[in-house]
Amino acid sequence: MFFTEDFLHYVWKFRLFDRKDLLTDDGETLEILSVGMHNTDSGPDFHNARIRIGGTEWAGNVEVHLSASDWQKHGHTTDNAYENVILHVVYRNDEPLILSSGRKVPTLQLKDRVPDELFDRYRQMVFGNQRIIPCEGSIAGIDGLIMHNWLTRVLVERLEKRSIAVTDALALNRGDWEETFYQFLAANFGFKINALPFELLAKSLPQIILAKHKNNAMQVEALIFGQAGFLNGELKDDYPVKLQKEYDFLSKKYNLKPIETHLWKFMRLRPPNFPTIRLAQFAALIVQSNHLLSKILEIKEVSSLRALFADIKVNEYWNNHYKFDIESKPLAKNLGSSSIDILLINTLALFLFSYGKQHQQQYFISRSLKLLENLPAEQNNITEDFIILGLKINNAFESQALLELKNNYCNYKKCLQCGVGNKILKLA
Ligand code: SF4
Repeated sequence: MFFTEDFLHYVWKFRLFDRKDLLTDDGETLEILSVGMHNTDSGPDFHNARIRIGGTEWAGNVEVHLSASDWQKHGHTTDNAYENVILHVVYRNDEPLILSSGRKVPTLQLKDRVPDELFDRYRQMVFGNQRIIPCEGSIAGIDGLIMHNWLTRVLVERLEKRSIAVTDALALNRGDWEETFYQFLAANFGFKINALPFELLAKSLPQIILAKHKNNAMQVEALIFGQAGFLNGELKDDYPVKLQKEYDFLSKKYNLKPIETHLWKFMRLRPPNFPTIRLAQFAALIVQSNHLLSKILEIKEVSSLRALFADIKVNEYWNNHYKFDIESKPLAKNLGSSSIDILLINTLALFLFSYGKQHQQQYFISRSLKLLENLPAEQNNITEDFIILGLKINNAFESQALLELKNNYCNYKKCLQCGVGNKILKLA
């Protein structure tokens, strides 16, 4: 019968075995008062367990193995951390456990005590035929409330992990939230493909410099396009030539050096998504908004947050250009609603959450989750797969949680640590 030690941990943790008339390998009666705290770090598998053997109560650690002989194979014999083990829980008891001190550790064998049905469900879930995820035949049948609670937990895990990057950047920016937000917003304006050059651009051009020129859109655009490296070389149209002159002066004043132009990618992008257009939109946003993060922390309505991005007006030069000096058919270059949603999901929701965490203010954490609840679900390969499996994805709260679930649980078959997996195993 093939299963992993994790499965046996799971069986012990949730007492999913026949507990009637338990005996140790010495034939003494055994009662489990507490299975202990699961320890996923080094050392025994469960801490602070309590058991009664014969008439005597014991408190200490429990170690779990597939076979009793694994104790030796895993090198516990010479490890003092295992001295306080009061019970060895094994599937197969193939040898008694005697510590180097000479103390014999009582062993409980679980073979014949784990229900076949539990084995079947486990094997089917983790090792069965699957196209998308291990539990694909069962996930759509999970109770809505259980699913919602589990997705909430997974989503919070995702935001907590992503907040670490915010905290690190905040430390580098000496606690300046606005500067940190500006850098993250810039990176997200790159929409994955151009995230790196956008991020490098923001880091090379502190917001404080842009703030000094907020009243002059041309200078802000010159600083942004110049730092991006798009004002190098010969340019023909009036607009870029003027930008070039401005940048020439400002770059000397602030001792600025442009980033490498080759980092910008145009290939496989639709012209409205060209980095030149994104830079024009980013510049317009900088010109039109002061202390953007402070504003965002105050705005409660999703429609008002959207308006911050929807109302930006790029320089009219871009109405009939996608690149400098190449004229194109006239088309307004506002940010589209799906692009705005991506910015709200990846930057605003993240910063509301991170700000709430840092300042221990649940209010902002709740607003982050509420914002995601009010944004449409993302469409990508992962969400499409879950829809094929019969899930209805109502909003970005759920699509973000499902991304995390797929990437950090399903892909690693962590079904025993998953709320969906627990439900399938214990109560199906
Ligand atoms: S991790 Fe959870 S959702 Fe993913 S396959 Fe396993 S049980 Fe299903």
